[in-house]
Amino acid sequence: MVGRSAEVRPARVDRVLGSRLFVAGSMRSTGSRLRILAFHGVGDVVAFGRQLDVVAETSNPVSSGEVCDWLGGRGELPRRAVWITFDDGEPSAVVDAAPALAARGIRATVFVCPAFVGGLVRPWWQVVDDALAAGLAIPDGLGVASLKALGDDRRRSVVASLAVALDSVDADRRPAGRRVLNLDDLRRWRDLGGDVGSHTWDHPCLDRCSPEAQRSQIDRAAAWLDEHELWDRRVFAYPNGSATSAAAEHLASAGYAAALLFDHRLVARRADPLRLSRLRIDAGASDARTRAIVGGGHGASLAARRRMIGR
Ligand SMILES: [Zn+2]
Repeated sequence: MVGRSAEVRPARVDRVLGSRLFVAGSMRSTGSRLRILAFHGVGDVVAFGRQLDVVAETSNPVSSGEVCDWLGGRGELPRRAVWITFDDGEPSAVVDAAPALAARGIRATVFVCPAFVGGLVRPWWQVVDDALAAGLAIPDGLGVASLKALGDDRRRSVVASLAVALDSVDADRRPAGRRVLNLDDLRRWRDLGGDVGSHTWDHPCLDRCSPEAQRSQIDRAAAWLDEHELWDRRVFAYPNGSATSAAAEHLASAGYAAALLFDHRLVARRADPLRLSRLRIDAGASDARTRAIVGGGHGASLAARRRMIGR
């Protein structure tokens, strides 16, 4: 069956690329490069803890401050350095996973959208998911992936109409409420040794926004993070990894030290600090898959596959 072979093959690839022999060889040739891991939510904290042990056994966790110093030529990183990051400020990461990181002395960074803190605004993809779960029709059959491709004003108007429609759905058809990240959660994350960065005000894809809207998204989030004294260094993650020249120029002029993508590559010291690659990884991924991603073999095999199919 198609589904079955599609499930089996990645596990086999992970076993090869995540084998101790392969990872040791990969680390010998790429150990001077930084690995930046990009997580989102954490479903199973115990499995995540075991995954952190695999990361720590394979590599050397570093903080955003150490990375910024390295990028700015003010410090060195150990070989096999890894910076652990989380996008979106999911409570399962900021609240539930923080003790697992602190217990291992790992200083991770969470990139937050201030609009979502305290439930001021609901993450737009959750509105879409909840609307689909409630059986509502999405205009033109759009889903989260196709909404990302729309101009941002059109995407906002579709999501706003879905939010209104959801509110009028009978309570028993409406999905259960979701946990919301609060300011106190972020303060506790900081107290436990975590860092905070910006992920824009409310998570549009910047390549679908006007240059003015991009600057406003960046500045509004920064003003909030400044006001609540939540960050030491200006670090930023592009929503969906979608970088633009207008955003990068604005980040540079506002003194940001690092801005992060999602393109599954390792980072060399001479990399553009405002377009740093990250390795996407699921919390609780198998030991072999975690080693394959941290070791660099997974990204290299993806790049080879893209070259083979010509994109
Ligand atoms: Zn995001």
